[in-house]
Amino acid sequence: MAFIKKYGLLLLCGQLAMTCLQSHAQSPGNSARVLHPVSFQNVRMDDPFWSPKFKVWNVTTVYDVFDKLEGRYEPDRPDIIKEKEKLGRTRDAFLNFDRVAQGKKNSQLHDGPPWYDGLVYESIRGAADLLAENPDPKLVAKIDAYIDRIAAAQAADPGGYINTYTTLMRPNQRWGANGGDDKWQHDIYNAGMLMEAAVHYYKATGKTTLLNVAVKMSNCICREIGPAPRLNVIPGHGGPEEALLKVYQLFKQQPELKSKMSVPVNGNDYLAMVKFWIGQRGNYGEKDGSHARKSDSSYNQDHMPVLQQQTIEGHAVRATLLATGVTATALETGDRRYALTANNYWNNMIGKRMFITGGEGAIADGERFGPNYFLPESAYLETCASIGAGFFSERMNELEADGKYMDEFERIVYNNLLSGISLSGDHFFYENPLTGNGNKRWAWHDCPCCPPMILKMVGALPQYIYAYDKDQLYVNLFIGSEASFRIGTTDVALRQTTGYPWKGVSKIEVIPASTATFTVHIRIPGWAEGKENPFDLYRSGASGPVSLKMNGHPIPITIVKGYASIKRSWRKGDVLELDLPVQPRWITVNDSVQTIKGKLALAAGPVIYGFESQDNPGLRDLSIRPGAQLQMQYNPDLLNGVNVITGQGQDKAGKQTNFTAIPFYSMGNRQPGDPYQVWILCKP
Ligand SMILES: [Zn+2]
Repeated sequence: MAFIKKYGLLLLCGQLAMTCLQSHAQSPGNSARVLHPVSFQNVRMDDPFWSPKFKVWNVTTVYDVFDKLEGRYEPDRPDIIKEKEKLGRTRDAFLNFDRVAQGKKNSQLHDGPPWYDGLVYESIRGAADLLAENPDPKLVAKIDAYIDRIAAAQAADPGGYINTYTTLMRPNQRWGANGGDDKWQHDIYNAGMLMEAAVHYYKATGKTTLLNVAVKMSNCICREIGPAPRLNVIPGHGGPEEALLKVYQLFKQQPELKSKMSVPVNGNDYLAMVKFWIGQRGNYGEKDGSHARKSDSSYNQDHMPVLQQQTIEGHAVRATLLATGVTATALETGDRRYALTANNYWNNMIGKRMFITGGEGAIADGERFGPNYFLPESAYLETCASIGAGFFSERMNELEADGKYMDEFERIVYNNLLSGISLSGDHFFYENPLTGNGNKRWAWHDCPCCPPMILKMVGALPQYIYAYDKDQLYVNLFIGSEASFRIGTTDVALRQTTGYPWKGVSKIEVIPASTATFTVHIRIPGWAEGKENPFDLYRSGASGPVSLKMNGHPIPITIVKGYASIKRSWRKGDVLELDLPVQPRWITVNDSVQTIKGKLALAAGPVIYGFESQDNPGLRDLSIRPGAQLQMQYNPDLLNGVNVITGQGQDKAGKQTNFTAIPFYSMGNRQPGDPYQVWILCKP
């Protein structure tokens, strides 16, 4: 009954959402097939794997992150404990806004890193998306109070500029000018995160206070940065490119919203600024030295013009967020030059630099991508970098409608994203190496960028389960849910039930309001077809076939660009049933990778496994023979319910010994700091 009720509501919302989305689809220059994620109003998640996790994130994590941004927590890292002893308290990000609102300038007092404003905004964005799925008036009231403090800080500047670090510490170096450095100050990055928070919070609540702040700051940027005589400045940290596009797109879709803003909205200026930023990166100014800026390094992807970059380089969070922005710009403008660069980035990242868990950024120094095929087990792999790669991959799927992008998105989500947060929802990993000893999730970090980034991705996740374009529906993720679409003049709902990732069967009920012809594309993951990686970086062989049934009868599967496509006249009650081979499989690496040559990793479905010392006392000396038999069983009492894989290997002396593997994401939750490994030596 609940479904019928929701279903009716979903269809209604679907009609409303389509009105604004059509204007987007028809924008000039867009290529024929551009996928759209489902808007929040049109999708509801109800899933045995994900829903309990969302409950923890809604009830615990989102409040925990805001409390900690307010400085309300007990530090558990030596650096913060020391800082608390010195300061007499922990850092409070909101005090910075209050100081600026009081008119303070150059006070040389600022709590937290220069990007603390940005982390507040990112948390608001993530919370906004979670609110769209899970209304929570208490949380709205909390965020509204924060927004009032943010707006008060902005009101202290007549031009609408807001970055508390620069105002309080370096007021003469706005945008990193006059000897400053935006890579450190994060003026533009923080502004970008403000814009995204504002757009997402408006979409979730209809409230415009933060949007007004973001528009004022966008206008300030467009007045002060750009072609001469304005300043030649690019963001010191990727991200604002996509963010400013979101502001542009919101007002393009809802022009009547402009009248609710206290300042004029000139969307074309925003789009021009995004193109300027991408165009200037790697271009340092006029040959005669006029309007020039200091050239920067690959750390900030500023080593050569973006449209000439062939590989993904530098700080991995900056790089993946820039790549997301370049992809979003390709989507918006239909300009294939942006798409070419986006493809270069993605192919290099996934084909030569990605870790088996979806981790990105091998090197701690500069938090950067390593060279091709450099995949050491002790790699850095910041949570934020992997999530950035996830956002990037999802955008690539919107651009190219190819399931391989969602394969890698899924790899990130089930592994490196989930490992970043404890099962309790209040402890976090910054680094996610593939071997560890003493690695413990922390309550809060001196650079706590990862928790807000986790909120952003989990908040967005329901939108990515499905996508659509005209008369094409895409099932991208196997997550229990209901969603609604408009196909031509027909309302269509999809209802998915699944036991994924622990079980391989997913049922998708197709419910058109009346009989209609359209295509449903179901992603068939590469791993299920024996293709662990689209570029052969990793290899594996799933042990069973993929099967697809229509109303109980097997149908042949032809996979094109990662999807099995079924075009027919759909009737109410039609059911597709996909069965994926989620039995355990061994993974090996391409011969070009020296560091893990001769080792094996274990996976089942999208989940990568790891071995903890407490389950495997002789872990350091454990080896496995090729083709070792594996058993997998669901244990509802372990780690909130996981499939456990067991088998037999050899100890140091070559004696047979049992081993136990658990999902990578769930490690470090029973005995934090327990030694673990993902790759195990293979000895014939
Ligand atoms: Zn981070």
